[in-house]
Amino acid sequence: MEWTEGIVRNKKVWAPGLFTLSIEAPEVHPFEPGQFLQLGYDRPDGHLHRPYSVASPHETTLEFFIVLVEQGQLTPWLWQLNPGDQIHVSKKPAGGFTLTKCPEATTIWLIGTGTGLAPYIAMLRRPEIWERYKKIVLVHGIRHASDQAYLEEIAGYSEGFGSQFVFVPVVSREQAAGALFGRITQCLVDGSLEAMAQCALTLDSCVMMCGNPDMLDEMERLLGERGLKKHRHSNPGQLVIERYW
Ligand SMILES: Cc1cc2nc3c(=O)[nH]c(=O)nc-3n(C[C@H](O)[C@H](O)[C@H](O)COP(=O)(O)OP(=O)(O)OC[C@H]3O[C@@H](n4cnc5c(N)ncnc54)[C@H](O)[C@@H]3O)c2cc1C
Repeated sequence: MEWTEGIVRNKKVWAPGLFTLSIEAPEVHPFEPGQFLQLGYDRPDGHLHRPYSVASPHETTLEFFIVLVEQGQLTPWLWQLNPGDQIHVSKKPAGGFTLTKCPEATTIWLIGTGTGLAPYIAMLRRPEIWERYKKIVLVHGIRHASDQAYLEEIAGYSEGFGSQFVFVPVVSREQAAGALFGRITQCLVDGSLEAMAQCALTLDSCVMMCGNPDMLDEMERLLGERGLKKHRHSNPGQLVIERYW
């Protein structure tokens, strides 16, 4: 893999262990919103790196929305970084979790858990998604209300785009004002997800899903019961999925 030396320019802490690093890395090749890069560093026992969705479109400084995995190998190192620190960034982007790989549809659902919000932030910052879909539903599943991130930016889309954009926060471990309570899958089954989105998850939707593998598997099963299936160029469907682990 080819690496470039990035410099941390900003660290925004949303909640303990939940943060966005802004990394200046002008040598990264152009990429599409939704693609990922590798972040890493040299340890005595070798180079340690992991993939991260870029939470911003291609520019000289790139955002990464990261959660500390206490027992993890790389994230404890990422969490202690501060502005001015150096980090290895892969030069070549990868991944097909992009609008290019999405089917045409009236409505696009952007469904993510935790840091699975990252690719959608990158997409919402560019005009393409707004030009291509009549309605955009952003669903963000988190455990606690304090895990919310990018809220001001998301509120700006609601204000700026009116009924074209709906934000549905789903909080699983506590009741929170303005959010659905439970798991995304439960809210799909009991109808509250579509009620808050004010539209239905039907065969003429495009559904992007990203994050926790349990959510992805269960959503794929539930949506499969409605006839929605993975989208492939050779075999069109509705679902475009990114697994984080
Ligand atoms: C395509 C892709 C894009 C990714 N983008 C992001 C991103 O934008 N932000 C991000 O924080 N992570 C992202 N990840 C996950 C990331 O690559 C690492 O797996 C994660 O940061 C843990 O690394 P670690 O070395 O600390 O943990 P490891 O020692 O590798 O332990 C991995 C374990 O950590 C847990 N885990 C991994 N990712 C998460 C997560 N996001 N939330 C909760 N638990 C997790 C799982 O239990 C997993 O088995 C992405 C993964 C993939 C495959």
